[in-house]
Amino acid sequence: MGSQTLYIVIPCFNEEAVLRETAKRIGFKINKLIASGKISEDSKVLFVNDGSGDSTWDIIAELHSMNKLYYGVNLSRNRGHQNALLAGLMVAKEKADMVISMDADLQDDINAIDEMIDKYHEGNDIVYGVRNKRETDTLFKRVTAELFYKLMKALGADTVYNHADYRLMSSRALTGLSDFKEVNLFLRGIVPLIGYKSDIVYYERSERFAGESKYPLKKMIAFALEGITSLSVKPIRMITIMGFFIFVISLFMLIYSLIQKFTGNVVEGWSSLIVSIWAIGGAIILSIGVIGEYIGKIYLETKARPKYIIEEKLTDNEDNG
Ligand code: UDP
Ligand code: MG
Repeated sequence: MGSQTLYIVIPCFNEEAVLRETAKRIGFKINKLIASGKISEDSKVLFVNDGSGDSTWDIIAELHSMNKLYYGVNLSRNRGHQNALLAGLMVAKEKADMVISMDADLQDDINAIDEMIDKYHEGNDIVYGVRNKRETDTLFKRVTAELFYKLMKALGADTVYNHADYRLMSSRALTGLSDFKEVNLFLRGIVPLIGYKSDIVYYERSERFAGESKYPLKKMIAFALEGITSLSVKPIRMITIMGFFIFVISLFMLIYSLIQKFTGNVVEGWSSLIVSIWAIGGAIILSIGVIGEYIGKIYLETKARPKYIIEEKLTDNEDNG
């Protein structure tokens, strides 16, 4: 049980300010885990350079040449956090029994790794790292992040609350993940869809110790929109519902304007105008919604997600499979 291989996958975008320190601290951690027999000696730290414009890749190459504990993958250009992470996970999947993903800035407490591995040995395929406090984040980041999770949930994209991309996944969970063929990638939303037994590990999130956040407001909004639109077609449903309500209102307007007409206190032509505006408006929005429903279906079809993942089979093993 002690000889399971662990890979730590770390996407890096312009992280020259933190990389050496991060490598040092994680390397120390891994060596301790290896020494205590919790993970095998083949365990590695895998850095993914996401098209950095600074010396990030040079540092990774240098780390690798000095110590084979450090591996590196260099992407051809910047593809964003989620894609970089997926690239690393897919490379690690081939070699590791379990993979932990984390950020380069060590905002996620690396001491949670021990507990994650324990939970893995208890039979969990996915262990989510969840922040129990956000005191160290700025008020702005805290409020926007909070809003983000609430909005996501309301719009039908269910994710693990306060969980970012700090998590452990077993190799079979990663195989499940590789079956999700979607291009619009929002890992936090997809990972829970994989299934299998999972658990949560709480940790305290600290401040970025150097460098600055690679998620300015613009990227955060784009990220939130990506999350909602890639996981849920609920916004389309909302259009349909809105169209329906406006159409209902148009019926009331019809009655109202007829009353106004027969009581005689309206300008000639008002009733027909006002009723058609509401009725046509409602009909148009409703139609857009209906078309949207079909587009939503097409959207989900094109993702070609796995319809199921088999966890275990109890059959007669003729071929000894
Ligand atoms: N990152 C990346 N590609 C990008 C943006 C970010 O690989 O285009 C990496 C970054 O190097 C870091 C992680 O994603 O390891 C999270 O970024 P950051 O810490 O800046 O986000 P925050 O913690 O502020 O949300
Ligand atoms: Mg960070």
